[in-house]
Amino acid sequence: MPSGSLPVTLRLTGRRVLVVGGGRVATKRVRAFLDAGADVVVVSPEASEPIAALAASGELVWHARGYTTSDVDGAWLVQTATGSAVDDQVAADAEERRIWCFKGGDPEAATAWMPAVARADDVTVSVCGGGDAGRAKRLRDEVALSLDTGGLPLRHRTRHPGGRVALIGGGPGDPDLLSARGRRLLAEADVVVVDRLAPLAVLDKLDPDVEVVDVGKHPDHHPVPQEEINQILIEHARTGKVVARLKGGDPYVFGRGGEERLACEAAGVPVEVVPGVTSAISVPAAAGIPVTHRGVAASFSVVTGHDQLAQLPVGGDHTIVMLMGVRRLATTTAELIAAGHSPDTPVAVVERGYAPDQRVTVGTLADIAEKAAAVGATSPAVTVIGDVVPLSPHWP
Ligand code: SAH
Repeated sequence: MPSGSLPVTLRLTGRRVLVVGGGRVATKRVRAFLDAGADVVVVSPEASEPIAALAASGELVWHARGYTTSDVDGAWLVQTATGSAVDDQVAADAEERRIWCFKGGDPEAATAWMPAVARADDVTVSVCGGGDAGRAKRLRDEVALSLDTGGLPLRHRTRHPGGRVALIGGGPGDPDLLSARGRRLLAEADVVVVDRLAPLAVLDKLDPDVEVVDVGKHPDHHPVPQEEINQILIEHARTGKVVARLKGGDPYVFGRGGEERLACEAAGVPVEVVPGVTSAISVPAAAGIPVTHRGVAASFSVVTGHDQLAQLPVGGDHTIVMLMGVRRLATTTAELIAAGHSPDTPVAVVERGYAPDQRVTVGTLADIAEKAAAVGATSPAVTVIGDVVPLSPHWP
């Protein structure tokens, strides 16, 4: 049996659409038609504030009077939403002239149905609920969520112009901590350029023909120089590909995201930066350590083990979070003590935050280096120094 309907996309730019009525439904539809670029004419003795404002600013034409049959002349499409018998008249007039007509609250008598729509960039999914608008909306919401969270295959299948780069903060390693926007951009990517500390589990979900480039940096061993990474991003984008640069944590926290962005911009490649959950805050949290805590610490610094540590505020009420450099702990703790930090300041070393084999070692500035060495602590690890550390359940 034929379905009796054909889903289509109407290209309304510059084409007249008549809206009869000025209430809630009419207002919603007016917005949709304007968004589609239509030349909108509203006929209604009264209109909502938004419609009046759009008329005042010249974005549509509003005739503040009752409907007459000749109003449908010249329209490509008609929406009637007066909630009165006028709707039947409009529908009949439109039918006679073979103009498609949406009819508010009366799908059976309408010649056109408005689908519920989900959009992600240039992709549009229209849902028709068989005349049940609420049903269509619920379905649309689910589709929209899947689109937004990268659950649907958004990738272009044919070559397209418009290569670009997305610098995506992947969070501390657990795929659950990657943002919805990051996931969506990954679902669109033709090429994914990854670091060692990125949430690598998400790569399993990519299409088999997505190119994955591993530029992972290991401590004391940098396989791909930064300059070359920049070139990889730019060159792929220039061939029209969508490039996802998936990094650990946040791109702008010791992630060289700023450099990559500037390089892309300098090469004229559009680039978007998606923030990520930084390990500087989340890895302490994984060990139950808040970097600030009312009455305990009100500020924090994020540094690397290679840093000049001498100018950091002295006192356990200023939390110090140290990324990298776990193997240089003996030197850094000695430097901090020499700079006036109390040897009793609590310290935690959190290795492999959020991984099943996460390990937390606690001590003080005086003994943490020895304790970490005793357990063989290695990168990746975050070291937290300050009075917030004893808030951890790992503190004895
Ligand atoms: N841009 C990243 C940091 C890059 S520097 C961010 O915002 O998190 C790399 C350092 O991050 C590692 O040496 C380690 O100190 C820390 N790190 C990242 N992920 C980690 C994890 N899951 N567990 C412990 N440390 C981590």
